[in-house]
Amino acid sequence: MTTIKKICYDRLLPSDLRRAIPFASIGTGGRTRAITPIGKLWINGSTLRVGFMGGSSDQQSIVKNYAPEWTKHANLNFEFTASPNADIRVAFADDGAWSYLGTDAKSIPANSPTMNFGWLDEAVVLHEFGHAIGLAHEHQNPDGGIQWNEAAVIRDLSGPPNNWDEATVRHNVLNKYSHDQIHGTEFDSESIMLYSFPAEWTLDGFHSEPNTELSEQDRAFAAGAQMYPGRGQPDAVELAVSEIKATQASIGQPGEEDLFIFTARSAGRYTIETEGQTDLVMKLFGPADQNELIAEDDDSGLGYNPRLTVDLSQGQYFVQIRHYNRRRGTGPYGIKVYK
Ligand SMILES: [Zn+2]
Repeated sequence: MTTIKKICYDRLLPSDLRRAIPFASIGTGGRTRAITPIGKLWINGSTLRVGFMGGSSDQQSIVKNYAPEWTKHANLNFEFTASPNADIRVAFADDGAWSYLGTDAKSIPANSPTMNFGWLDEAVVLHEFGHAIGLAHEHQNPDGGIQWNEAAVIRDLSGPPNNWDEATVRHNVLNKYSHDQIHGTEFDSESIMLYSFPAEWTLDGFHSEPNTELSEQDRAFAAGAQMYPGRGQPDAVELAVSEIKATQASIGQPGEEDLFIFTARSAGRYTIETEGQTDLVMKLFGPADQNELIAEDDDSGLGYNPRLTVDLSQGQYFVQIRHYNRRRGTGPYGIKVYK
């Protein structure tokens, strides 16, 4: 039963660690804004550059072979590249299996990996690339209802090969996300994002077999409105740089992403903000490269509106807008950018 201990380590940015984990309890109605990470998703339709930091050609082939399974469903492409500016950088160190979540990879220094394979098979490649496109662990789904035998889980994972302390076990396995932190499917026991674990780890005998391929829900969700729907590049709305005129837009269906572009004709300090009653989150990418995350914001503007003020060089920039509540949120808003 050694395979059950091959468990992926969720890598968190220091900014997320500051957000007062453990997560909010389930079903509390009101939300606790301070703990909720904002979206990790890439811009819909992006081509993500994937590079290797070491590894044999056999190891690299396994990754190249299985990772693109996601892009048959999600509206993303993986481009394997030797370029040092890869968005996802894969290492093969004896350091367990882990990946940063989605655009968090852009906060990692370019000389460090964003994903590691301490062992290699189809399942672990699919699982880690699930993280890389922004998926979290299914066993931390608040709808999962898993009743952990906490002592048994902590005991097993505190030994090799994980050697985790209790806080790490809680973070990676026992804690559940609050509803608005996660994607919108019901608990999916077939998900590639679910760990396999034995009946001894739960109080009611529930256990999970190793899942080795994308489940039907994994595929549907990756291709759905809350992640990466459609094919190719979605239309972007051009924003004029103007302090006066806001462009009117709306999140028409839950999970929808709105994409805007604007051109900074000269270097300087620019502000991008939304207005209205809709609770939005904003991410800014560029210049010219829609994978280069510059900044993100939730509530720095008026009310629940995001606002970013950043020094930009000349060039074209991309603004991704989503509702804070990807499961249910919709509503109109205005957006403007000014210098
Ligand atoms: Zn994982």
